[in-house]
Amino acid sequence: MNELTLFAPAKINLCLSVLSRRSDGFHEVAMLMQMIGLSDEVRVALRGNDITVSCDDSSVPSGQGNIAYHAAKQMLAYSRVNSGASIYIQKRIPVAAGLGGGSSDAAAVLAACNILFDARFTREQLAEIGAEIGMDVPFFLHGPSAMARGRGEVIADLAPPPPFWVLLVNPGIHVSTASVYQNLNLGLTKQVDCNKIQRLTVNNILEVLSNDLETVTAAKYPVIGQCKAELTSAGALGVLMSGSGPTVFGIFDTEAACQTAAEKLAPQGWRLYTAMTLTESPIAGYTDERREQHGTLFRN
Ligand code: ATP
Repeated sequence: MNELTLFAPAKINLCLSVLSRRSDGFHEVAMLMQMIGLSDEVRVALRGNDITVSCDDSSVPSGQGNIAYHAAKQMLAYSRVNSGASIYIQKRIPVAAGLGGGSSDAAAVLAACNILFDARFTREQLAEIGAEIGMDVPFFLHGPSAMARGRGEVIADLAPPPPFWVLLVNPGIHVSTASVYQNLNLGLTKQVDCNKIQRLTVNNILEVLSNDLETVTAAKYPVIGQCKAELTSAGALGVLMSGSGPTVFGIFDTEAACQTAAEKLAPQGWRLYTAMTLTESPIAGYTDERREQHGTLFRN
């Protein structure tokens, strides 16, 4: 096999608490993360001597500017494989939107290279390599539901909730995660205890729905408050900004309610996506622990 295509899903943060500023300059966080059924498609082929990355979305950097490049570079180095890799990303996840698209693409490249190079790294080993590339990458080698601690790279998997629907509203602005953290006033954070959730169900999730980064991004972009208000009046059970934003999501218990809300919001001209929460990760199935269960996937 010399080519593999993986789905790289988006994530939403159901709870994001910034606990403290660390001596290394990063922040200590507690985040409840959930994969959703909105995915990029990442094709990795063993080809040539160099690493190339291209994407159908011209706003996404190609080559070394793309996080997927670094994932392939690390895998080539760690597995000592003498080859190049050609990566093509079909982008569906909005960029710089708080949905983890780049990190998910990187995780997909790590998992694909693990198979293509026959490197046999375990999920934990791949997550460690992922943490060298970006703090959200380890989650995408785990999931579909997890608690992330530390700088975001310490992952504890959780049993996924019974599926529910989300309507994502993206007002079309790009937000830099670094600048949001720079403008965060730790004295004003709510620091909801994400850990108090015992079992993931819609009702339990609604109780912890909170994001300490929301006030920073919403203060700069009032449209975020408007997106939330529209989602609430369209019947969402709960609404929250994901990650550093600007994407806002509303929670619905049925697809029909989610679609109806999407129709109500359509005239606003924002980018809208409906998706179901995932009960299985499309990436974790390619890490070493799961290979036996999915054996037939790897024979061609
Ligand atoms: P983060 O919290 O890491 O900023 P995000 O989900 O808000 O995550 P991404 O879509 O991952 O945002 O994009 C963040 C930045 O990374 C963008 O400005 C983009 O130029 C750059 N980037 C590099 N590689 C990719 C990729 N494969 N997909 C999307 N963006 C990428």
